[in-house]
Amino acid sequence: MLLLGCKKEKNVVQETGGYCFASNFGGLGQLFKSSGNQQLDYWHYGEYNNLVQRFGVIPDIYFYDDGNSPNAYFTPQISNNQYPDGQVAIGLNWIKKEFANSPTNSGVSIAIIMAHEFAHCVDAKYKVYNTHSYRNELFADFLAGCYLHLKSMIIGEQYVNEVANSFYAIGDYAFNDPRHHGTPAQRVSCLMEGYKFSKSKVGVGYQLPEAISNARNYVARF
Ligand SMILES: [Zn+2]
Repeated sequence: MLLLGCKKEKNVVQETGGYCFASNFGGLGQLFKSSGNQQLDYWHYGEYNNLVQRFGVIPDIYFYDDGNSPNAYFTPQISNNQYPDGQVAIGLNWIKKEFANSPTNSGVSIAIIMAHEFAHCVDAKYKVYNTHSYRNELFADFLAGCYLHLKSMIIGEQYVNEVANSFYAIGDYAFNDPRHHGTPAQRVSCLMEGYKFSKSKVGVGYQLPEAISNARNYVARF
């Protein structure tokens, strides 16, 4: 079974709430390859390798100092030809916040946020959408839900609610705001629909194009 990245608009930085497409990372300040914590780095790069295999995309990945605006970003801009599918940056404060709010102390929602960024990478690579709107975000949530299922097959289903709660917390209600990610309910709905889709394929398997097409169809209702 194969399975399975945010896009562009402008330089972001001050924006909160998980908006994650950037035309480049120029506004993020210094980018780091290490979080400064060896154990976290080990976990992080293990998750990265899993995501590369599942999503079939190879973005470069960094940490950055997100200060008081916990966030994560994807940009399609390539800075190193070894990583042809753009770049992902994960905020160090976001990681801390997710760990602090993790009842299981597993920080499992970080893996799913990383999956959301990888899904933006898939969106950009396969040109799923021509423009950027909340649909790109909901699409990424659906694919992140597929990854959540694949992950739960390995670590158990006890983490699913924790991830859903985390997604609920990062949704927003700013309907007139172009940075809108989808309401919390829409985000959780797409996440869980991706989860269900992947679960329905146990024993049959599925490839990325099928997941993309199911995600697009589901997101079109919003
Ligand atoms: Zn996003």
